[in-house]
Amino acid sequence: MSDTTTSEETTMRIQADTERCQGHGRCALLAPEVFDVDDLGKVLLLRDEVSGSEIADIEEAVTSCPESALTSQ
Ligand code: SF4
Repeated sequence: MSDTTTSEETTMRIQADTERCQGHGRCALLAPEVFDVDDLGKVLLLRDEVSGSEIADIEEAVTSCPESALTSQ
């Protein structure tokens, strides 16, 4: 019998384009554990990798950015 379960946890990497970012802060509201906005009104990544149950929230923040300044992979 084969066992296809794996103990590897799925991770997602995040990138922010500060040229596009207009500092709406939407990402920081949706996922304050990962996104912040600096004094200049640009997104600040507190971490560039998330895993497990965080992924859905971060994906929502990425797709909610009005400037398409966030990408995940
Ligand atoms: S939602 Fe987009 S535009 Fe707004 S602060 Fe975050 S990255 Fe910048």
